Amino acid sequence: MMSRTTTVMSSSDGNCGHWIVRHRICLTCKKKVSHLEEDRAFNYLFSGLCLTNEAMPFTKRLVTLITIYDHKKLHLVLDLDHTLINSVSVSNLSQAEKYLIDEERSGKWENLGKYEDRLIKSRPFLQEFLEEASKLFNMHVYTKGSSGYAQAVVKMIDPNKTYFGGRVISRRESPYNKTLDLVLADERGTVIVDDTVEVWPHHQKNLLQIRRYLYFKHDCINKKSYAERRRDESRSSKGGLANVLKFLKLVHNGFFSCGVGEDLESKDVRSLINGPFKLYGC
Ligand SMILES: [Zn+2]
Repeated sequence: MMSRTTTVMSSSDGNCGHWIVRHRICLTCKKKVSHLEEDRAFNYLFSGLCLTNEAMPFTKRLVTLITIYDHKKLHLVLDLDHTLINSVSVSNLSQAEKYLIDEERSGKWENLGKYEDRLIKSRPFLQEFLEEASKLFNMHVYTKGSSGYAQAVVKMIDPNKTYFGGRVISRRESPYNKTLDLVLADERGTVIVDDTVEVWPHHQKNLLQIRRYLYFKHDCINKKSYAERRRDESRSSKGGLANVLKFLKLVHNGFFSCGVGEDLESKDVRSLINGPFKLYGC
């Protein structure tokens, strides 16, 4: 499969489909391409990168084959808000939460940051989760937040770009529903972790639903927030990150259990997850 498609891709006999274009220059035939009829921009990976619909399945498949065979990893797409972090506008802090403004300024809390007028609190177990998950998965962030917000949060939780590199998809690239079409990886090898199912209308079978992380009062109705009680989610909480990590390890084990010599066609995380899969009770 790989060699056949590579032959097609290297063709420059005038019938080039201009499948992969960067800054309007076709990477195969080097010609200038004025307009791509149906294309998808992958600016978040490389500036000016565009793939046609024909190029997408091939490229996604190739990326996943390399990830699986060379690195024995799958792909993981992580939501930000209520999954890895909780954030709130300072003006929406309750009276009993305002001590956090000084705490953030003091810089004493590694898990508390600020972007414009928002306080950002990372979920307990986050750094351990990222470190362990990155050994088994090539990781992306996918958020409905703005690009500036997404970049600021990722800088806080992954300051050295160890875990996500440039793989951050925000509202700028994805203004409507979330879709794996924007993730350069085969859907057979991609797991999604998100607290919201509805935003993934076409990829729910890949989805692992995590319990919503609610730290601030603004998101908690009829009860005191963790911030008000000066407590936090238990690291072993059912539906929390440690619990999700255990499940991700099972998925990874299941995928690779019959060895990596078999064709990708016979493997699919969707048959292991059968999502949307909820890791906690009602
Ligand atoms: Zn071309």
